[in-house]
Amino acid sequence: MRSFLIAIGLFLVCGCSSTQHPDLRPSVFRTSALYLDLRHPVYMLADKSLWLGCDKDPAGDDICRALRVKQINEGVQQWFDYFDKADRPEVAIFFSEEELPSNPKNRVIHLGIDPGGECGKEKLGGSYVACYRHKIPEIVFDGSSRITPRIMAHEFGHALGRDDNDVPEGTGSVMSYKTPTNVLPLDIEIMCRLHFECRMVK
Ligand SMILES: [Zn+2]
Repeated sequence: MRSFLIAIGLFLVCGCSSTQHPDLRPSVFRTSALYLDLRHPVYMLADKSLWLGCDKDPAGDDICRALRVKQINEGVQQWFDYFDKADRPEVAIFFSEEELPSNPKNRVIHLGIDPGGECGKEKLGGSYVACYRHKIPEIVFDGSSRITPRIMAHEFGHALGRDDNDVPEGTGSVMSYKTPTNVLPLDIEIMCRLHFECRMVK
């Protein structure tokens, strides 16, 4: 029975950024599942789909890829900039599975693009710009234009255990659907209730 419940949990957890801002979400989608340990490096793996369209980019393939990585990094750093430099969690993006360090302590987060894909649409309907799934885990953008620091910061918030709209609207939290801004001190405070290692935060 227990393993069955765990399997269900893994299947149904999906955090999403939405352009349609559904206000009512089934409670099953609310989760504080936590698997990143900030004392250990956070590794991400760029799936081939993350480079979708870069071969046709007038700026060139390399610049296109570098720009996407920059946006992703900026989204993650919105969270980690709050840490003292000496204690800031290490983040690395890898471009092939072979490059990954063996036996990482944290599960590797995959990054990809799936235009018009099923990520986030499976159970909820609506038009989503990106989503996060615990199961793999992965962050999937609906298109290259969706790779922005804010959207990345929101999805990465799920990887840190945060839920959609887990704070009152109007606070400007990065996890808000209606009025998201960037990662705020309030976001860090809530995240730190889930991570004891947050004592390192300023
Ligand atoms: Zn979300």
